[in-house]
Amino acid sequence: GGRTRIFSGVQPTGHLTLGNYLGAVRRWAEEDQHRAEALFCVVDLHALTVEHDPARVRRLSRQAATLLLASGLDPELCTVFVQSHVAEHLRLSYLMECTASDGEMRRMIQYKEKAAAQRARGGSVRLSLLTYPALMAADILAYGTHEVPVGEDQAQHVELTRDLAERFNQRYGATFVVPRTTLPAVAARVMDLQEPTSKMGKSHARTAGVISLLDEPEVVRKKVLRAVTDTERDVVYDPEQRPGVANLLNVLAACTGGDPEQLAGEYDSYGALKKDVAEAVVETLRPVRERHAGLAADPSYVDGVLRRGAERARALARPRVDAAFEAVGL
Ligand code: ADP
Repeated sequence: GGRTRIFSGVQPTGHLTLGNYLGAVRRWAEEDQHRAEALFCVVDLHALTVEHDPARVRRLSRQAATLLLASGLDPELCTVFVQSHVAEHLRLSYLMECTASDGEMRRMIQYKEKAAAQRARGGSVRLSLLTYPALMAADILAYGTHEVPVGEDQAQHVELTRDLAERFNQRYGATFVVPRTTLPAVAARVMDLQEPTSKMGKSHARTAGVISLLDEPEVVRKKVLRAVTDTERDVVYDPEQRPGVANLLNVLAACTGGDPEQLAGEYDSYGALKKDVAEAVVETLRPVRERHAGLAADPSYVDGVLRRGAERARALARPRVDAAFEAVGL
């Protein structure tokens, strides 16, 4: 019983992007932490599903946590922690692997895309890349989560989490809350500015199309002004035929609280649109950059937040994970 529970996470695989912010993190800060018992996690175990450098993962985990706080998460209001600090995630993950089938894991779009990319580079695919959704289900279900605020790319994994929760409950008795996805009204999928048919991702090697939360205003302006559009001249909102322009309109709408189709009608050139997008993004990210400067100077504060966050998360997860072990006969 009690308050609504919310859980979500970010991978420590690079600087957070404008996509992470508009798709997920901004809502966590502006809405979710104020209206619910909310937990936000740096999911470092997930970062090990592809080739990784140990020192880099550790550095990026603290950096991701710092960026979450800079984005406005308030440790007085919500719980911010690192996944690997709370062993309950791994304990429950195994039970989720015993609930899921290999077929439903292989059908996940993210697995298919990432596995294909690994193989194309001549590399092998880590088994954990396949089982990733079992760990993500455990992340969510351990907390009795009602709502999972994510971008569109994660919706399929939350759907699978729902299936696993229902299957487990049916087989072993009511143990888990069945969670639901919440998506932002606009910009649920921010696209790469140079390649507007693929999503803006923090681990992309080419950064010309990716806006990082800490990009200087001049860098943001340059990236937006060089964004790929198309050879038409009029400004029309058509995500299918005109993905580059639609992406800019979505970003503008998300930053200014407007509606992308309505905004399209207010512009008759790409130049004017890009100029306004650039300024809207600079203004949206300004408070994040300002708060980040203070936080980055105080790593022991961030470490303290993460230590207290892990304690709180562990206390919340423990009883439910224990109950799940009991339910399956362990
Ligand atoms: P990334 O793909 O950048 O590594 P994560 O997997 O860490 O991102 O996702 C963190 C959150 O940000 C998730 O809720 C995810 O859905 C959201 N997100 C990631 N990329 C985008 C994007 N381009 N547009 C909207 N939301 C996104």
